Amino acid sequence: MLLHTIKEVREQVKEWKKQGLTVGLVPTMGALHNGHKSLIEKSVDKCDKTVVSVFVNPIQFCPGEDLDKYPRTLEEDNKLCDEIGADIVFAPTPAEMYGEGHILSNDFLTYVIPPYFYTDKLCGKSRVGHFDGVCTVVNKLFNIVQPDFAFFGKKDMQQLIILKKMVHDLNIPLEIIPCPIVREQSGLALSSRNKYLSDKGKVDALALSKLLFNIKACYNKGVNDIKALSETAYSFLNENHELEYLEFRDKDTLEEKKFADDNTVVFIAARVENVRLIDNIELN
Ligand code: AMP
Repeated sequence: MLLHTIKEVREQVKEWKKQGLTVGLVPTMGALHNGHKSLIEKSVDKCDKTVVSVFVNPIQFCPGEDLDKYPRTLEEDNKLCDEIGADIVFAPTPAEMYGEGHILSNDFLTYVIPPYFYTDKLCGKSRVGHFDGVCTVVNKLFNIVQPDFAFFGKKDMQQLIILKKMVHDLNIPLEIIPCPIVREQSGLALSSRNKYLSDKGKVDALALSKLLFNIKACYNKGVNDIKALSETAYSFLNENHELEYLEFRDKDTLEEKKFADDNTVVFIAARVENVRLIDNIELN
């Protein structure tokens, strides 16, 4: 069932809650691929009812980013959700979420601001304000849908860690279910932004997952020196990659690691054909 208004979603969820049914929420920006599909399947499996939100959230895009050209494929997305067994696809307009006229002005919106310690690093460094936009919209979706479970991919690991912290700190009564990264057979992590890449760009993009797998293989062989692990990783990159960061951080607190250990996540962001790609790997 495709719904566009908060009121309709609330009414439907209220009915379900009256019947004592559990509700799962899968927040997305649409252009759904097998990564999203795995989250929706998990929710359908675990919960009586599943809501998938499809909303390209303007307040999480920074000036100059791809808000306008972000792929929008609602008809196909809705069909896919239906096939998987989701009960509601919630696709609001920006005006429905933020009110007419006030969409991009922080002066008119109450924001949820996650701790600076979590947002001043990795993607937060170049995407200033991005996680404020994410936390704000996810909080709104939580309040609209009131799910028992919310499903997020480890593909966006920093986002997942920040949202877990928000749910903990604000006592939001739901459980976050982290879901594994879905990759192409080649290793490339699925992303809606892969659509921007040419065939050659897709080949260049493989370096990211390759170097992460290599780091993990070296770690498993006993190497825990971060300088050594990073140096091997750099050898996978060439002039077609514009590296933004390669960092070893704690999987709960995002603190920088001195040595790689089982609690380490290796994060990478790089541009290929000017498309910003992110990936990560857990070392345990
Ligand atoms: P997005 O539409 O990019 O905002 O992503 C919506 C949700 O799908 C987020 O929780 C993402 O982490 C998750 N997701 C995106 N790509 C993947 C992937 N390749 N594997 C697993 N989850 C993913």
